[in-house]
Amino acid sequence: MNTLKQNNSVQLPLFDYVPTFELPRLTNKTITVWFSCGVASAVAAKKTIELYGKNNKILVVNNPVKEEHEDNKRFLLDVQEWLGVEILSATNSKYPNCSAVEVWEKEKFMSSPHGAPCTAQLKKIARYQFEATHLSHYLVMGFTAEERLRHLRLMAEERDDLLPVLINLGLSKEDCFGIVMDAGIKLPYIYLLNFPNANCIGCPKSESPTYWNLVRQHFPEIYAARAKQSRKIGCKLVKVKGERIFLDELSPETKGGKIKSWDCGIFCDVAE
Ligand code: SF4
Repeated sequence: MNTLKQNNSVQLPLFDYVPTFELPRLTNKTITVWFSCGVASAVAAKKTIELYGKNNKILVVNNPVKEEHEDNKRFLLDVQEWLGVEILSATNSKYPNCSAVEVWEKEKFMSSPHGAPCTAQLKKIARYQFEATHLSHYLVMGFTAEERLRHLRLMAEERDDLLPVLINLGLSKEDCFGIVMDAGIKLPYIYLLNFPNANCIGCPKSESPTYWNLVRQHFPEIYAARAKQSRKIGCKLVKVKGERIFLDELSPETKGGKIKSWDCGIFCDVAE
C-alpha cells in the first residue's frame, strides 16, 4: 500500500483513504472550540455556533499565555461579545501565572525539534486538565481551507473527533481576516506589525532571523530578555545560513525568507 509518511510515526494511506471533510449532523453533543486569539479560531467558533449551537452545547475555550501581546485580551473580549457566549480559560495548575518564561526557567529548555515545553505545559497539559472536568464529544480548531494536511495529521496522530468546520466551508485564513473585520472587530494589534499569528512575542518555536529581528525592532526589551535567558539555558534559537546561533549573536541586519506561520496550538507540534 502506498502511504504518506508523517514524522516517522503515522502513515496516511494515499489510495485507500479519501478524506471528505464532511460535517456530521449532531444533536445533544458537547463541542469544544479552542480559541487561540487568532482570527481563524474566532471564525471557527462563530461558524460552529451557527451550525451546531441550536441543538448542541458549545464551549469556547482559550489557553491564556502571559507572553502574548496585551491586545489579545481586548480581542478576546470583542470576540466573546460577537459570539454571544462566554470564552472559558484552560490553564495548567502547575503554572498558575501561565508564563512561558517561567516554564523555560523551570524546565531548563526553550525549544527542540519535538516542540517547546511551553506548548506542552500551557496548552497540552492545560487541555488535559480542562477535559478532565468538561466532557466533550467533538473538538473544533482554527484549521483553515489551506490546512487540510494539518487537520488530517491531527486526526491520525491524536484525535479523531475533530470537526473540520473551516475546511468544510472552504474558508481560508484571508477569508477569516475579512469576516472578523466585517464584523467590526479590530484585529489583534500584533498582526498589524506583520507578525504571522497572534502567538507569544518572542516565541522560541521560530528560528527565523527575520522573525527575531522583527521582535527586536518592535519589542527590544523582550528581545533582550529572550537573548539573556536563552544564553543562560544554552538554547540557540535562531538559524542563519543553516547554522544555529544565539540571539545575542544575531546581526540586526540579517534577514531570512518570509516569516512562516507556526503552530503553538494545543496539541504540541503544534494554533494559529
Ligand atoms: S506561542 Fe510560542 S512561546 Fe507561546 S506558548 Fe506557544 S510555543 Fe510557547
